[in-house]
Amino acid sequence: MKYAILGDIHANLEALTAVLADAKEQGVTHYACVGDVVGYNANPVECVNLIRELSPTVVRGNHDHYCSHDDNLSGFHPLAADAVDWTRKQLPEEMRLYLRKLKLVAMIESFTLVHSTLDMPEMWGYVFDKLEAEAHFHYQTTAICFFGHTHVPLAFEKADGVRCGLYTRIQVTRGKKYFINVGSVGQPRDGDPRASYAIYDMIRNQVELRRVAYDFRITQKKILDAGLPGRVAARLAVGR
Ligand code: ZN
Repeated sequence: MKYAILGDIHANLEALTAVLADAKEQGVTHYACVGDVVGYNANPVECVNLIRELSPTVVRGNHDHYCSHDDNLSGFHPLAADAVDWTRKQLPEEMRLYLRKLKLVAMIESFTLVHSTLDMPEMWGYVFDKLEAEAHFHYQTTAICFFGHTHVPLAFEKADGVRCGLYTRIQVTRGKKYFINVGSVGQPRDGDPRASYAIYDMIRNQVELRRVAYDFRITQKKILDAGLPGRVAARLAVGR
């Protein structure tokens, strides 16, 4: 079994399409999603449809949550709030209901999915360092947990202590725990504009980070044509 773990797609149809083509080429047999299918970019409906078709297991991200509820957006960055407002108007009620009902935490086979952290997932905390990962590991019962939210593909490994670093391939070792960020399909923020996702090969017990180039100029044009903030378009070229 080969799982593609996708996250932070953020309504970027061109990036998602490129990632799905790559996954197919890599012999992926199953799909799972760590959330934030919508928000920021211009194709929320198309991306929800694609993900819903492919992946029976999707956990709810903060953008999925706020785009499908009418809550006040005072805690949001103004740039993100504008995009949430726009997305709310695009989603049909049936799709809002689908997003609203997504779980915060899910388990597939022998691994866990969460958008932010298992340490109070409803608070949408960001895990960037060992201390934050330590708080998360306290609640992780499976050997591997995949997450997103930061848009930075960092991996944390817990044995005696917690180690942290960028990765391209991880050999999963018995007795250790892994908290693995799969990066962002639709809005990478690690300085690399290519779409990011991970493949979990359950036979070899390996996790591989994949980076896939796509034509972000098409996505940028759609963003500007839709009247979404120009900065949302500009950041796709630099991966920030
Ligand atoms: Zn996100």
